[in-house]
Amino acid sequence: MLEKNKEYVIGIEDIGTDGEGIGRIDGIAVFVKDTVMGDKAKIKIIKAKKNYAYGRLMNIIEASPYRVEPVCPNANRCGGCTIQHIDYKKQLDYKWNKVKNCLERIGGLNDIEDKMEPIYGMNNPYHYRNKAQFPIARDKDGKVNIGFYASRTHSIVDTESCYIQAEINDEIIRRVRAFIEDNNISTYDEETHKGIVRHVLTRVGFVTGEIMVCLVINGGKLPNSDKFVESLADIPNMTSISININRDRTNKILGNKCITLWGQDYITDYIDDVKYQISPLSFYQVNPTQTKVLYNKALEYADLNGDEIVWDMYCGIGTISLFLAKKAKKVYGVEIIPEAIDDARNNAKINNIDNVEFFVGKAEEVVPKQYEKDMENKKASVVVVDPPRKGCDKVLLDTLVEMAPKRIVYVSCDPATLARDVKILGESGYEVRKVAVVDQFGHSGHVECVCLLTQTDR
Ligand code: SAH
Repeated sequence: MLEKNKEYVIGIEDIGTDGEGIGRIDGIAVFVKDTVMGDKAKIKIIKAKKNYAYGRLMNIIEASPYRVEPVCPNANRCGGCTIQHIDYKKQLDYKWNKVKNCLERIGGLNDIEDKMEPIYGMNNPYHYRNKAQFPIARDKDGKVNIGFYASRTHSIVDTESCYIQAEINDEIIRRVRAFIEDNNISTYDEETHKGIVRHVLTRVGFVTGEIMVCLVINGGKLPNSDKFVESLADIPNMTSISININRDRTNKILGNKCITLWGQDYITDYIDDVKYQISPLSFYQVNPTQTKVLYNKALEYADLNGDEIVWDMYCGIGTISLFLAKKAKKVYGVEIIPEAIDDARNNAKINNIDNVEFFVGKAEEVVPKQYEKDMENKKASVVVVDPPRKGCDKVLLDTLVEMAPKRIVYVSCDPATLARDVKILGESGYEVRKVAVVDQFGHSGHVECVCLLTQTDR
């Protein structure tokens, strides 16, 4: 165990989940905020446990060559971008290595490096997000703050310009702030559960340019809502202005009910040539440019020639299903949230795609039931999974093995659970053939990748 309050010199080698630097002293991992991989630094141990410790940076002895000045003045305080102070190329190296290390250490795959494609980074790692959800609150002086939460807190870093959001967002936020101030609208206080305005949600269709603004309120009615509409409606391409009712004491941002104040209930956007209608409550990928890269990779790995039956597990609003449908005989999508399946069915309809069918329920329950009913038409040759961060349920993995598809395309937002799952699939005869890491979230530590597995002896 390291000694509390003692000073050490440390070399920083890795990045932690909140963007902090990680180094080792006597084999013990030490987490040090404000350091970057490649730094040599003097630190003081502030908390020591048996297997890990936290250190405070005293001074940098040798600065890392990967340190860059963040473009955003709020980068150090804001919890949105945790690694903006690291050169973007190095961020990409880090993400590629993270996938490789997880697959080696957790997945037990020693020859994985040869199967990994070079990472697909963004051409421009700024202004890439199509969706912002900013909390709104007044500070001690009564000033209206709108922005991201500071790291690990609920205090808002007031943001005039966010460098990862669509640029039009700055203008929207400026107008929303002015509306709240000019009309003296109260802002929500988490402690007392009083006050009206909680969050603002914006969405922009990157292909269509259509814009949506939704104000989340604690109550049934927004005072001076006509003025709210007036303040936003003349923004070019404004398409939908709404309120969302959230009266709960909760960290959840949106309530279940939306009321459209002006324009349509949704905006439209495209990924490649597939059209999607997106309402305030719909799940939709936040980086459409890179999502296109990711889904095309999934399509390439699925290697469809038009004869295949494909199952898309964890299909959300059917984004991947519809993408694959153009090359498959039939696609079945499964998703646990009924509203997402409503969106999926609607998206199939507006694209005139009729070779997809969607089921509501747990993938691991729906598939065996459907197989029992109609094995001949439903037997999968390719299965796509895109689970949440916790990875696939063990029961689903067993189901996959029983389905015995030729190819499994695993889209993952957490390489650690991906590695755990491919290890399990490996024990049942599936081998990883290719891996592509696609950066969806520049300046944050999130890592997204897609992985092709096929049966070992075929
Ligand atoms: N493939 C989609 C969304 C993936 S997000 C896209 O690219 O847009 C993961 C989805 O899995 C979520 O929509 C979540 O509701 C769903 N989900 C979680 N557990 C599930 C289960 N056991 N069976 C089916 N869907 C599940």
